[in-house]
Amino acid sequence: MPIRLFNTMTRRKEVFESIEPKVVRMYVCGPTVYDSPHLGHGRASVVYDILVRWLKYRGYRVKYVRNITDVGHILEDIGEDRMIVGAKRERLHPMEIADKYTLEYLEAMDKLGNERPSIQPRASGHIMEIIEMVEKLVEKGYGYVVDGNVYFDVSKFEDYGKLSGVKREELIKHRVEPDPRKRNPADFALWKAAPEGYPLRWRSPWGYGFPGWHIECSVMSVKYLGEQIDIHGGARELVFPHHENSLAQTEAYTGKKPFVRYWVHCGLLTINGEKMSKSKGNVVNLLSALEKWGKDVLRMFYISAHYRSDIDFNENAVKMAAENVRRISDVVERVRSMKPVDRPLDEVERKLLEATRRARAEFEERMDDDLDTPGALAVLFGYIREFNRLTSGRDALNAEVKKEVIGFLDMVRRVFGILETRKTEVSTELVEKLISLIVEVREILRREKRYDLSDMIRSRLREVGVELQDTAEGPRWRLLERSGIGFLK
Ligand SMILES: [Zn+2]
Ligand SMILES: [Zn+2]
Repeated sequence: MPIRLFNTMTRRKEVFESIEPKVVRMYVCGPTVYDSPHLGHGRASVVYDILVRWLKYRGYRVKYVRNITDVGHILEDIGEDRMIVGAKRERLHPMEIADKYTLEYLEAMDKLGNERPSIQPRASGHIMEIIEMVEKLVEKGYGYVVDGNVYFDVSKFEDYGKLSGVKREELIKHRVEPDPRKRNPADFALWKAAPEGYPLRWRSPWGYGFPGWHIECSVMSVKYLGEQIDIHGGARELVFPHHENSLAQTEAYTGKKPFVRYWVHCGLLTINGEKMSKSKGNVVNLLSALEKWGKDVLRMFYISAHYRSDIDFNENAVKMAAENVRRISDVVERVRSMKPVDRPLDEVERKLLEATRRARAEFEERMDDDLDTPGALAVLFGYIREFNRLTSGRDALNAEVKKEVIGFLDMVRRVFGILETRKTEVSTELVEKLISLIVEVREILRREKRYDLSDMIRSRLREVGVELQDTAEGPRWRLLERSGIGFLK
């Protein structure tokens, strides 16, 4: 079965065919790094992570670019660059804000268990290429210059509106402030002039300024993935104007259609039925959420809804996600603990083998069908019920059947990115607390004059790289250099 994806451009599911066989070039719009990542960022990132995992499972090599926006993205309400908004809020340079929140975002992505994209380019690192693209657009007659600003003339691009379906009349009211210098109210900025002292500006053929938001994605997509790509992803709210404009710029620049074969958009995330917003005070920080619920529960919550649907975050949904993770982890433990035996299949094992193969095929079918994760989960939980029913009271399983069951469950864990076996991460804080606890116990033994034990603890601690000294103020410890955990304070 081929993979089918819902294409925003055609508004229907289409069979996925990549430009180059078995290779997928995918671009996803990443965060604007002026504030901490929240649950909504987590949702979008997991959606495309699962897509990448599924494409890989289906034998594709995936080149995945997700950008970091650190200039030019205006906050509509106040008409100011988000980076400047962040800089004013924290009294830092906008590039300090960019660094701070890029690192936070990347930390959250790792903790969420997302595979890292192939490239995560920053807009501010591509000003030269942006200027080149804008110059070419002006040369070709799609761009025009007014007072150091460069605008894209939407009337020159006849396909304008084909992605979002937005009408010309609607376009007019979408613009923040109609700029009288524009030819059409719907024209958008490719480059904006900036006065002296403005902290985010570069020299260009039109004077000092900075790029408009949309142009960075055209530039970085063309630069890293080529003039035509397979998939462009992002949240649904990006369809207009961001993606409509990226598309217009890129196709005008390259002269090649289509810029993107499949436009894949994901739905929004609400909190207790309400849109997340600063003014409502209901923004849930992604790192705090990870701390509180852990990555498996969050991922399970995200995949419990279809990626195109909106998803509501509430206590019940999290509880259910936690319960579902437990059900999967229970069955994984259970089958692992069953003794593999080398003998012909009995009746129950034959049924189990058949159920496992059927479940795997149905799971694959659901995932191939526009990444139907809730459908795939339903198949999985139906299978788990059957597994539990069939194997109840058993402690051994035919080795081949066991292998088949484990193979299916491993596949599920891999494509959902949950319950993956990896080295447990131990925090510095935990190590310090554990050492202090051992030292405290030894001190008690010492006071009770049980020197054999207290000396043994001291020498064993030394062996693992912790040196202990008994001082008048009590025991002190420090890490020896050779311990290899010199990152401790
Ligand atoms: Zn995008
Ligand atoms: Zn973008």
